[in-house]
Amino acid sequence: MEMWGRTVISTRATVKDMRRSNRSVLLSKIYLDGPLSRQELTQLTSLSAASVSTLVAEFLEEGLVEEAGSVESDGGRPRVLLRVAPGFSNVIGVDVGETRVTVELFDMSMAALAKADYPIERASLTPEMMIRHVLDGINAVQAQAPLDSEASILGIGIAVPGVVDQGEDGLVHAQSLGWGEGVALRAMLREGTKIPIHIDNGAKTLGQAEMWFGAGRGAQHAVIALVGSGVGASVVAGGASYRGARSSAGEWGHTTIVYGGRLCRCGARGCLEAYVGAEGILDRYREANRGRAAEGVDEESALASILAEAEDGSSKAAETVLTETAGYLGAGIATLVNLFNPERIILGGWAGLALGGRRLAEIRAAAAEHALRRPFEQVSIELCQLGPDAVALGAATLPVAQLLAEGGGTRRHITHPVRPRPGIAGRER
Ligand SMILES: [Zn+2]
Repeated sequence: MEMWGRTVISTRATVKDMRRSNRSVLLSKIYLDGPLSRQELTQLTSLSAASVSTLVAEFLEEGLVEEAGSVESDGGRPRVLLRVAPGFSNVIGVDVGETRVTVELFDMSMAALAKADYPIERASLTPEMMIRHVLDGINAVQAQAPLDSEASILGIGIAVPGVVDQGEDGLVHAQSLGWGEGVALRAMLREGTKIPIHIDNGAKTLGQAEMWFGAGRGAQHAVIALVGSGVGASVVAGGASYRGARSSAGEWGHTTIVYGGRLCRCGARGCLEAYVGAEGILDRYREANRGRAAEGVDEESALASILAEAEDGSSKAAETVLTETAGYLGAGIATLVNLFNPERIILGGWAGLALGGRRLAEIRAAAAEHALRRPFEQVSIELCQLGPDAVALGAATLPVAQLLAEGGGTRRHITHPVRPRPGIAGRER
């Protein structure tokens, strides 16, 4: 009898799971590749025309999906196109950077509706200060939102520069922010807002944005290689982000490029980041330039001046350092090619875009020199399309990704008023 009982329960569970999985497949297709007609959806998924029709009717009823015009079909009636309704809900994306905290409000189509920026001194951001900026930002962007935007907030995605343990405790280990211990950010934020919170590493969120809306579209196996002050990568295998046992996979910047080499911020020697991260490039330039630092008020303008000096031929030090940088970067990319056999490597981050914009051919040549021939022939090396500021947008994809995975969910999304409620952010002070 017990056996029968079990069978019945698991059959019920299977039917429910199947429904959810079908909804997820269909909704993801409409979101990522829409607008699409019912006929195209049937062709592009493994679902029958009847299932597509039933599920689309449900989505329309729930307000998740809307009609977006129609196209002529051969001889038949015009086909109605469907898309995820931009106004179904709004999402908030937060970029916790090393120099600023940015909070942005988007609709479901990722059109930006409002933005709040909080500059910070490098390495001075405490977890408490970050929480205050995030909560202030949440209120600020909701207050700025257009009056006709009465949508609820589906969730908040937060991108942090560090390892986010996706285990139960969800601790954030942000060595570059000077946070010694793992910080329970989610629990701390929950005291100030009831909106669902998702936290992930900044490289992974930017990677997801490029995969959905940028240079990664259509690829199943890709690595988004990000070079800024820090160096990281987002590895996508079989269409999903590769995370490892506790989500720290992708710390490409701390793979060894020179045994016993330059000291890295992580404490080890010879890491890739110590050579191609912005600080590493500027340090190497100063050494090559007999102790004189590059001109510029910040890392970004200093790197720009080195690139300009090399281009107009006015500085031998600049040329030497950038040639070497392209070599180190190419060798680092070759490691990614050999390890993951990706179809695409997408180079981004502000320094990655600055270097790639001027010296991509050199970087490709260095990668070719260091990679195995066969996997190198199968990969293309391209630049990110969304720009270095897409981290907040990437963070905002986190709650959307959950909605897609749940097929829209059985529970209706929780409604949060768009107007700030008094006392939400004020609590901390
Ligand atoms: Zn390191």
